[in-house]
Amino acid sequence: MKRLQTLAILACLLLPACSKTSKPLPIEAGVSKQLADYRADNLTDLAYQLQFDIPEKRENAIPGKNTITFNLKSLEQDLQIDFREDSSLIKSVISNGKTSAFLFEEEHVIIPKSELQIGVNKIEIEFIAGNTSLNRNDEFLYTLFVPDRARTAFPCFDQPNLKAKFQLNLSVPSHWKAMANGQLNSKEEKGDRSLYSFAQTKALPTYLFSFVAGEFETITRERNGHQHTMYHRETNPEKLANNTDEIFRLLFESLDWLEDYTDVPYPFAKYDIVVIPSFQYGGMEHTGATLYNASKMFLDKDPTQNRLLGRANLIAHETAHMWFGDLVTMKWFDQVWLKEVFANFLADKITNPSFPDMNHKLKFEMAHYPSSYSIDRTSGANPINQVLPNLKDAGTVYGSIIYHKSPIVMDMLEKITGEEALQKGLQTYLKSFAYGNASWEDLIGILDENTPSNLKEWSKVWVDKAGRAHITTEIITENAEISNLKLRQTDANGNPGDWNQDLNLILGYTDTIVSLPVKFNQDQMLIADAKGLKTPEYIIPNGSGNAYGFFKMDAASKQYLLSNIHNIDDDLLRGIAWINLYENLREGIIGGKEFILAAEQQLSKEKNTLILSRMLSYMRSVYWLHISSEDRQALGKHLEESLWIRLSTEKDMGNKSSLYSTLSNIAETPQLLDQLYKVWNEEITFGGFELSENKKTALACQLAIKMPEKAEELIKTQIERIKNSDRKKKMQFIAPALSADLQVRKAFFESLKKEENRQIERWTLDALRYLNHPLREKEALAYLPQALDLLKEIQVTGDIFFPYNWLSVSYSGHQSKEAGDITRQFLEDRPDYPENLKLKILQTSDLVLRK
Ligand SMILES: [Zn+2]
Repeated sequence: MKRLQTLAILACLLLPACSKTSKPLPIEAGVSKQLADYRADNLTDLAYQLQFDIPEKRENAIPGKNTITFNLKSLEQDLQIDFREDSSLIKSVISNGKTSAFLFEEEHVIIPKSELQIGVNKIEIEFIAGNTSLNRNDEFLYTLFVPDRARTAFPCFDQPNLKAKFQLNLSVPSHWKAMANGQLNSKEEKGDRSLYSFAQTKALPTYLFSFVAGEFETITRERNGHQHTMYHRETNPEKLANNTDEIFRLLFESLDWLEDYTDVPYPFAKYDIVVIPSFQYGGMEHTGATLYNASKMFLDKDPTQNRLLGRANLIAHETAHMWFGDLVTMKWFDQVWLKEVFANFLADKITNPSFPDMNHKLKFEMAHYPSSYSIDRTSGANPINQVLPNLKDAGTVYGSIIYHKSPIVMDMLEKITGEEALQKGLQTYLKSFAYGNASWEDLIGILDENTPSNLKEWSKVWVDKAGRAHITTEIITENAEISNLKLRQTDANGNPGDWNQDLNLILGYTDTIVSLPVKFNQDQMLIADAKGLKTPEYIIPNGSGNAYGFFKMDAASKQYLLSNIHNIDDDLLRGIAWINLYENLREGIIGGKEFILAAEQQLSKEKNTLILSRMLSYMRSVYWLHISSEDRQALGKHLEESLWIRLSTEKDMGNKSSLYSTLSNIAETPQLLDQLYKVWNEEITFGGFELSENKKTALACQLAIKMPEKAEELIKTQIERIKNSDRKKKMQFIAPALSADLQVRKAFFESLKKEENRQIERWTLDALRYLNHPLREKEALAYLPQALDLLKEIQVTGDIFFPYNWLSVSYSGHQSKEAGDITRQFLEDRPDYPENLKLKILQTSDLVLRK
């Protein structure tokens, strides 16, 4: 980074007209790239000294004070400090010891350049903290400032490449606990208040600054002489007993692994975790104070392999961020994928040894390909590298492409460079840019020096380009032998494709397979090695699991696989075949009914947990969204029976749990509903296992929709049964969305138009999903245009995943052409609609847009 800066300054000295900053910078809402670049070039040695006085009541204001110190290189510009709140919340500003004549415009406190000086400056601001990203609950609050939300809470320079040292003082009610990124220096009791003072942190970007305060319990464990504390609000002693050891084990294992892989010891002062009920994300990697979602950490008894793996992966993911993202940070949020790709890619490597019985290649396939395809199959597909002119839109760059396509692409990169070269390259990258910022280009530059391949060219296709190749096989046979086998690739519009990748073309026969490695680097290719081989029963071009694209099935392969997929002995290949079958369904090559019948037929035969779980998830989605309600009536009863048979004979508790979830999800016959009701009512047990409180709550919700005559009783009783106050509040919030009374449901939807009613996003999403249940598809059509109308506001007020998730649940029960028409009309009426939000709409409405 230093080298680049020197070059930039040199270039400036050589050019007489180099005065790009002499014109006043425009003042615009958000944080424009232009403003961020100017500040990054001119401010150094930044530090914040922050104080917040947090009252017990969530509706009372939080007074704050921020003392900002920094070195300034130039006096050409007034200084814009970001604060996305009402100007009335700024109480006083003192710059360099004198009362400032500051202005407040477009979310900025503007300090006149006349009050600044070259060298050290000190700005002191008293303010009332904005509440947008403080997540204030009755008994606790937590900050969540990613990607650009620090500026909603306090005045700051909210950009990832202006790292600062933070020193924080918090005053909280004395029966609360408080924690933050830094070590606790001192705690002082003053009447009914506690004053916490935290040590100054290492240099951090604003999005990683964090504090949590409230009623929490703590559990502390030690690793290598360092204390690690978990803060939590779980009240069920059994849940705590079942999970705590494992959580710490996973945490310490991740730390060990990462220190070894990166050759960099844990780079911050301490590492605690906070487990938050109904947390918006799986986790958030605040340095030393990482937040986790309670439902993903405290698992029910007999969790599925997938849930266990999900937790291990989550902990490894957030811990990997301490190095990738926290120690070395992207320069701008257009490359936020850079930190996500390493977190995901390394999380897979970290968790593998903990699951020695698992097929890790298959796990990788199941974890990333379906999610990545869920975006890349749509007309709203986005590339991994995206453009971001203003940080206020940073939330929209998040999604499955950066979380799931980028690990796939990183896996390809590792195959090109070799494992050792990649690890060495990453070590150089971390050491070169520690406590600073770096870009993908910086890394590719490091790796390219040690690799014969041209990684920059490779990156253009896989990182800068959206969508996936459509790959078809064309086979000509003669006398039961292949005379000609050709592969062809196009983009989604049928233009010749230029993706360059290694395939493992599988020719499948009843009792054996032949695999042919292919370097697929043209738009069409003759597979010479196939000539003369026996005509196969089926062809799978992506047999190794490394290839990425839509693999369109020829008629013979489709027919064979739909009825004989169990003949494929190899788990990885069978898993890939399932993914291919589903993608062929989504692209219209296979019908919903055919798919359901095939999946049902395979139910009793599938032994692999990962594949079974994937099959069941496909089955639920196809059952509700890819067949008509008449077909559901016709197929449902038999499907219920098949699921029941497998469930009652299944020995593995995890599989049992997946089967139960699918059965209760699709249950529609009065007999099964009646049985499920008795299970919920604790009159009978079901399939040989007990339902946890969470499962009972979920069942009550399902039954309330399917048995409207019992809805009131189910909801009321379930609320009474829930002991934990956080979970009880959630059920109370969701209750109107489950009501049998359409007017109550409509009024509830109406209430979501007010921001304060959408504050707990997890609750909102669950409720919205029930409002849009497939059985309510017709009435829910009325919500769609309104949900779309709200999207712009949702993006401004909600957290990073909320816009996509909001749309995703809004479309979750729809398969009609009407829903497609509403979407088309919405976009047609708004030709100037923001492109990033339009893509989110196209991604989530793909199914109905194809009608
Ligand atoms: Zn992450």
